[in-house]
Amino acid sequence: MFSDKDKMHEECGVFGVYAKNQVDTFLLMQFGLIALQHRGQEACGISFLTNKKIYSYKKEGLVIEAFASIENPALYQGNAAIGHTRYSTTGGQSKRNIQPLFAKNIDDEVFISIAHNGNLVNSAKLREDMEEEGIKFVSNHSDTEVMLRIIQKYYHKGIEFGVREVFNKVKGAYSCVLLTQNSLVAFRDPFGIRPLSLGITEDGTYVVSSETCGLDAVSADFIRDIEPGEMIEINDEGVHSYIIKQQEKKAICSFEYIYFSRPDSIIKGDSVYHFRELTGRKLWEQTHIDADVVIGVPDSGVPAAIGYATASGIPFKPVLLKNKYMGRSFINPSQAMRERTVMLKLNPIISEVKGKRVIIMDDSIVRGTTSKRLVNIFKKAEAKEIHFISASPPIIAPCFLGLDTPEKEHLIAAKQSQEDIKNYLGVDSLTFLSMENLKDLLQEEGYCYGCFTEKYPVNKNEQPVLNELN
Ligand code: SF4
Repeated sequence: MFSDKDKMHEECGVFGVYAKNQVDTFLLMQFGLIALQHRGQEACGISFLTNKKIYSYKKEGLVIEAFASIENPALYQGNAAIGHTRYSTTGGQSKRNIQPLFAKNIDDEVFISIAHNGNLVNSAKLREDMEEEGIKFVSNHSDTEVMLRIIQKYYHKGIEFGVREVFNKVKGAYSCVLLTQNSLVAFRDPFGIRPLSLGITEDGTYVVSSETCGLDAVSADFIRDIEPGEMIEINDEGVHSYIIKQQEKKAICSFEYIYFSRPDSIIKGDSVYHFRELTGRKLWEQTHIDADVVIGVPDSGVPAAIGYATASGIPFKPVLLKNKYMGRSFINPSQAMRERTVMLKLNPIISEVKGKRVIIMDDSIVRGTTSKRLVNIFKKAEAKEIHFISASPPIIAPCFLGLDTPEKEHLIAAKQSQEDIKNYLGVDSLTFLSMENLKDLLQEEGYCYGCFTEKYPVNKNEQPVLNELN
């Protein structure tokens, strides 16, 4: 199997609903998870609550395929549910790790179920300690199960107590939804590394989603973000908020704005699309590179290309076409075919490029291999000059807070100078958004820039044994 290793890969998405009375949880969960599909395409699952009982359904593959294989949707109706779209790294693809995970009581009934977006850095040690205590684990080194077992252990003292213990013990990124036999619970780590939002539908169903695009998918109005360090519990009495642990400095992932989140999402009140367009405007201020046409690499390079075009007066043209029907990975045994995958995925309209000075705007450069193949496509199309712009600063370090990134030695900007990368790509100029401009665009402190600075909010030396992602 060949898969696109030249991108920072999405992590996971979580979604949850709670209503006083029975609602169409099958439909709501399907819509919400489809909206979050970009955060993970390998597997998905739901747990739903009906008559105080929790049932789960999990499957490998895309959400639409997983739900289509459900024979009797009427059985999936309830008053609350949680769901998960999953992406995992090699070593973490065990079926037992597909979320939501759940725990059973002594009557063999599921009484809690959890779905997690993020990555813990001390889960291996915590698991080891708990296994020594005699606590049984069923997943293949899933860090989510560590949180589940902590909550299970303290559940007799109440859900709030259990979640407090999670905050006391675990380190890393965690935005979670959790189902009990009478409530929907959501919590977010004290740094707020991954996003998590709360909304409500017209009929009073509460909705929690990794991104606001999930709220839109079920026609829910945005209420607010779950705050970093906050737990909310939603039951028949409404929404109860508990501030579990406050961190002076927040560390929201800046890459959510640059690439991961959907452009129609809003994080911390800021439109992701607007941020990306402003990035392009800033890049014009930064470089003033003149050209005949600005081209955005679909999809995430397009808003920055539009911003650059608007600020510079150079026309933006959507002349790089993306094949929407190509999966992320497919059988591809030969190197020659691998070279062609970029052309299969992206193809320029040659007449709009030939003899022109083109600016290619991409969201980032990771390994550099895809960028080079892309440049070759434009050379073949006889572009007169090629100017490559990355709408993010150079990526010099991997992420271990919930995103799948190549090891440091495979990150081109970690080992080569900008001049060397320019020569490797074979372009007339190469520009990266400056760190100063990225920070200026985000306007305030409170973001993680770890993959650009190698400075992380959490000690990276506590990395898990397996690079399990959620
Ligand atoms: S290291 Fe990079 S990708 Fe990871 S959380 Fe920080 S900014 Fe986001």
